[in-house]
Order: sequence, then C-alpha cells, then structure tokens
Amino acid sequence: MSETAFPSDQTYQPDVVEAKWRERWAERHTNEPDLDRAERPFYNLMMFPYPSAEGLHVGNMFAFTGSDVYGRFKRLQGYQVFEPIGYDAFGIHSENFAIKVGTHPARLIPRNIENFRRQLVRIGGMFDWRHELATTDPAYYKWTQWLFLQLYKARKAYKKFGAVNWCPECKTVLANEQVVGGFCERHPETKVEQRALEQWFFRISDYAGRLLADLDDPAKMDWSDTTATAQRNWIGRSEGAEIEFGLDHNRSIRVFTTRPDTIYGATFMVLAPEHPLVADITTAGQREAVQAYRTAAAAKDLVSRKVGDRAKTGVFTGAFARNPATGRTIPVWIADYVLMEYGTGAIMAVPAHDERDFEFATLYRLPVSPVIDADGRLAESGEFSGRTIDEGKRAITQWLEARGAGKSVVQYRLYDWCISRQRYWGPPIPIIYCDKCGTVPVPESDLPVLLPEIEDFRPDDSGVSPLARHEEWYYVPCPECGARARRETDVSDTFLDSAWYYLRYPSSEFADRPFDAERTRRWCPVATYIGGNEHAVLHLLYSRFIAMVLHELGHVHFDEPFARFRAHGLIVKDGAKMSKSRGNVVVPDEYIARWGADTFRTYLMFLGPFQEGGDFRDEGISGPRRFLDKIWAMVTECVRQDMCGGEIRHDVVVKWHQTMKRTHEALEELRYNSAIAACMELVNVLRDASCCDRLIVEDLVVMVAPFAPHFAEECWERLGHTTSVFDELWPEWEERLTVDDDVEVAVQVNGKTRSKVVVGRGSGEAEVVAAVGRDATSQRFLDGRDVRKVIYVPNRLVNFVVG
Ligand SMILES: [Zn+2]
Ligand SMILES: [Zn+2]
Repeated sequence: MSETAFPSDQTYQPDVVEAKWRERWAERHTNEPDLDRAERPFYNLMMFPYPSAEGLHVGNMFAFTGSDVYGRFKRLQGYQVFEPIGYDAFGIHSENFAIKVGTHPARLIPRNIENFRRQLVRIGGMFDWRHELATTDPAYYKWTQWLFLQLYKARKAYKKFGAVNWCPECKTVLANEQVVGGFCERHPETKVEQRALEQWFFRISDYAGRLLADLDDPAKMDWSDTTATAQRNWIGRSEGAEIEFGLDHNRSIRVFTTRPDTIYGATFMVLAPEHPLVADITTAGQREAVQAYRTAAAAKDLVSRKVGDRAKTGVFTGAFARNPATGRTIPVWIADYVLMEYGTGAIMAVPAHDERDFEFATLYRLPVSPVIDADGRLAESGEFSGRTIDEGKRAITQWLEARGAGKSVVQYRLYDWCISRQRYWGPPIPIIYCDKCGTVPVPESDLPVLLPEIEDFRPDDSGVSPLARHEEWYYVPCPECGARARRETDVSDTFLDSAWYYLRYPSSEFADRPFDAERTRRWCPVATYIGGNEHAVLHLLYSRFIAMVLHELGHVHFDEPFARFRAHGLIVKDGAKMSKSRGNVVVPDEYIARWGADTFRTYLMFLGPFQEGGDFRDEGISGPRRFLDKIWAMVTECVRQDMCGGEIRHDVVVKWHQTMKRTHEALEELRYNSAIAACMELVNVLRDASCCDRLIVEDLVVMVAPFAPHFAEECWERLGHTTSVFDELWPEWEERLTVDDDVEVAVQVNGKTRSKVVVGRGSGEAEVVAAVGRDATSQRFLDGRDVRKVIYVPNRLVNFVVG
C-alpha cells in the first residue's frame, strides 16, 4: 500500500473531514447515478420538507438521516441508488407565515429554501443535487396544472357546491382533520363555521375499493402496518343495505344501513337538515321551526356535528314515511347529527339498538321497539324472528330486494378530494369560464398559468381568492371563442403538488414533459419510501390515487407508486415532546457545529429503533463520538502497523463475522440502533485484543459508512484507497464463523479446580492464560504466587503449578 500522508497522531477533526468530503462528492459526482443506464436502479425516497423559516428541525434530520442510511446501505449492496430531495414550498403554511412576518412568499420561500439546502448539504445526505426541485417553480407547477387537466379531461375532476368548514381567521376552507373540537387547528381561539362554496373535487371515492384491495396485496405494497391500517380505517368500508322508505306521491327516502336486520325496530327517520327533500315534505305547521333549525345547523362546523356525545337536537317535519318491513308509518325528523356528506343524508332510526337514536328518542318521546333478544337473535321481526343477526341481515336484504325496496351495497367513508383553495400561494387551477362556452380548460400549450406576483395576496372574508381582485390576470380571452372570459381564481391544494413529485425527480431536467417514459420505467415505482405517519392518509392516499389515474390513462406502467413504505418514529427531548413553549427544541445546527454531522447522525440513529423513535438527551451524544474516535485511532494504528491476515484471536474472528451479519440484518429492517450497537461491540473486542488487522478494520469502516459517511470516506482514504467507500460492497460473512463456538476451560491450581474461563474453541495457551488473568476467582488463588509451570490441555483444562 502507498505511503501514508497522514501523521499517525492526528486526531479526528469532524469539521475538516466533513468539509473535505462535501467538496469531493460534488467534484467526483459521487452521488449522481446514471439515470439512463443504471442496471440495478434503486429509488430511495424521503418525504420532501416544507421549507419553514426555522430551518430543518431535528425531526426532519432524524427522518432524512434514517432514509439516507438506508439508501447508502442499498448502495453498498451494489445498487445504483437515486436519492433526490426537494421542497414542498406552496401552501397555506408558507402563506400564513409570510403574512405573519409581512414578507411576500415569493421572496420569503427562496430564502428558506436556500437555508434548507445549506442544512441538507451539511448533514451529508447522498442527495443527487442535479434533480432538486421546488413545487413553487413554474417549471414544476406547469405539470401540476397539466395533471389537473388530465383528470379534468378524464372526468375525474368536477365542480360542486358543498358545505365546507370555514376558518374566519385563515379565511379559507379547512379539511375535517384541520378542525379540532370545533376550532381551527391553526387558530385555537377561532370557531370554525360552515359555508357553502362551489369547489373542485377529484373523484377519489370511485377508487375506494381498489385503494383498499391493494393494501392487502403484498406483491404491490409492502407497507408499515400502522400506515396500512390508518388507510384502511380512513377508506372505511362497510357492508350494508340501501332501503327505500315510501312517502306519499311516489316519493321515497333512501337510507343506507349496516344493520338491515333491525329494520323492524325502525320507529322514526332522521334527515340531515340540508337534505333536498326537507323543504318538500315539511308540513305548513312545521315550516317555521324547520327553517329556524336549518339556519342554525348551517352555522355549525361539520366536525363538531360528528361528535357522538354532543346533546342531540332536532325538529319534526310533520311528514311520515312507511317502514317497508312493518308497513307502519313512522315520523320523519331532521337533526344535525345526520350529515349530508355521509351515506344518503338520511337514516332509519332504531332507538332500541343504536345509542344516538336512543338518546334522540328519549328526548323527543319517540317509540322504542327492541328487535334483537338477549341471545342475539331477531325478535318481533315477522318471519325473520329467531334468526341470528348475520342470517337476518342477509335474509332481510334479499326479501327487500325481491320487493324492490332495497339492495345490498358496499359503502365507503372516503369522500372525494376537494382540491380548491381560496388562497394565493398555490398553482392556479387551469380553468377559464366563458359566458358562451362555459367551463373551458386552459390549452396545454398555454401552461403554465403563472401565479402573478401581487402585493395584496392576503385573503379576505369574501371566500374568493385574492387573485380575483386582479383584473389584468382575472380577465382572459376565451381559448375557444376569444370573447372576454374569467380565470378560475382558486389555487390547488398543496397535496396535489406532493401527489406526483416522485415522478418529477428522475425527469426534472425535461422541460417538454412532466416525466420521461424511459426514466420512469427504469426508476419507478419508488423502491423504498420513508416518512412520517402523519401523512398516512392524505399525502399517501392521494399519491396512490393519482398513480391509479395516470396508469389508467396510460401515462405510467404501475398503479401503486410506493412499493415499500416505512413510517419512522418520533423523537422527544428528555422524555417530553419538543415544543417552543417548553423551550426544549433541538436546533440541529448547533449540535452539528459542535460535534460534526457524522456524530450527530450516528447519535440520532442510535437513539432507539428507527421506526419507534427515541429520546434525545444532550449527554448521550458523546458516546457515538467516542465510538468514532476509537475507530479513527484503530485506522491510524492499522495504517502504521499494516497487519493483514495474521493470527487473529478466535473470539475476535467470531465477533467480526457476527457483526457483518448482524449489521446487515439490522439495516435491512431499519433497526439502526442495533447495527450501531453491534459495531460498538466489535470495536470493544478489537481494542481488548489489541487487534487492528486490516481486513477487519476495513470491514468496520464499510459498516459504519451509512451512519458516518464523511468519516468513513476519510478512513477509507487513509487506509490507502483512491475510490469512494460507497463503491465497495457490504462485507460477506461466513455463516460457520458467526456461531459462538466457545468452550469452558477448567482452571486448576496445583491440580485443584478453582474456577473456569470461557474461550473460543481451539484457543492457544496464551489466550487461555490471558483469560485467566481477567478472571477474578482464579486470581484469588494465583495472586502473589510464583507460577512455575503451566500445563494446558486444549479445550479442557489449564493447570498452574505454583510454589
Ligand atoms: Zn384558521
Ligand atoms: Zn368562449
């Protein structure tokens, strides 16, 4: 090997090493796989960050490092790994922050992105910077708009009036999950209202069955259980029956129920206050009360209406419907615990077997008729009495079906995706309204519809996007007839930006297509996606839906975008959730400045199992640093002695092979803490044996490389290599050498057995004597005595003849 250019006493200086390798990686294009020719492509994706003003927080660092470790591990298995990064920079978070600090988002966001990029470079991710992207770049959102047009043309996008949650403070529509106990998640003081707005929706609910079925198809999806379960619950499949309750004049009320077996106990009906039949069926005497109730209900937010334990209220419409099973007429009420968005907006109330209905019946003195007996069998149910609940469901549904009064249906809880936002900071929805031609999509050749840089981007109370106030942008010639027409002023949901970003990364240099067919075929679907479970339902579900649509339209060859998804855990600080108010937020920059990125990365990954998270404690970080220092010293010593393949103690050999195996298995399962612990054990055994054999030291450097990449590169170079350590392969272990092949050797003093020591099978006399030297019991008998002779019977006993 070459003469070493490093003084052997040089200590490990992370800042010097890391700066050097950041530069080298960029110069040598170390992290840039050949996207057109890679033969073993591996797409390693992490959830791109929203570039906040605070910069990357430690949670981002934890997630990105864990994903990067996996990507580097795959590379060390011989894959060409593509690991891109970008910025999810549109959306209400960015806009609200811009409003708060009084800076235009178009000026604020680039500054934040610059800061993020600096931090991302600093942590040493294996990012391919050629393919960095920001969703706010017109070169990107041009294709987000193109995507909208594909859905529009395929009739998967439509506009409808609907009741929405409205935050008077945000001045925009909120998703249900943004409403917390009736208040806005961003404005805990502000009560959320209900408004009716005409908005754009995507027909994700048409895909509910497929979205659900694929979750159970291991050939398509290998996902964290927690994530798959969250999606299943969100899609919310239920089997039941749709039943018609006749009114007069050939009209009827249709209900969905999962309990058709209880129909004999349906003693009244309840409609949502917004149900279209309400005005029609309300009798003159009840009109005033019904109208007042509907007005009051309209002011409530949708989420608090769903809360089950809220006191029930309602009003009788004066109308009656006929129960198709009993033939009896039952009263029709309205109540706000029934939602128009759910099912058919009407229910048959079975107070004997439904809590909410029971509460309501008790309050308004409506009849309660039990139809399930104590044994769980149907009672008071005509010919169906005596059947079990399951039999009853089937039989009653069939019976209703035969009489044209019902049918069995599968229903999903999943709503269509509202993509309209009455805000500024997003891609304008590419639609034009013409008085003559109606709704006209912007021609693809006219994309992007640029978001104009306007100074008064703040939303007002009108429910109309600020863009509508800018006539020079708002009015546009109709693409079909040329007459003066108006642009759609809603921008699209941020989740549309992120629903397809993984497709753009490999093709980000193409200006004339959203994603190149050949590139997409080579790199997609994503091999491993790692992210937070807070995105289990929205982002991950929307991305799947968009992939299904693009597949149907012939744009991509797959219909599931993420073959493998793993949810990472969360980290807390000193046992508590990090928050500004607690003052326990870890600012990564400070730690990296003090300890270096490699130590920080290793510490983050050592905190606990990656998929569970861990507790960040300041005192803990010195352990990983000492670990790297020890390896550094070992490398230095290895270079000095340049020992290779000589006599290696048996237990060292076993530990070496065990470590190669254990780290490999642990990394594959994202148990990074176990992999680091295994390497630490090996280091201790090597130090104990004063061993710095080149074969072992080099393997050790490869094994820590995913965690401490700059460090490993530097060690690798010092060991005499001129190529990147990431061009190496994971060391191969020999299975037979991983087995702990230890023997117990009896320790005798003058022929009397006094103790025993455990050594590797076949250990030599010197090793056994050394082991005895470490054994306290033996030392009690040997201390201060003059050893005249040692008799060693391999694998069995050692006898010290003392004077
Ligand atoms: Zn708000
Ligand atoms: Zn026109």
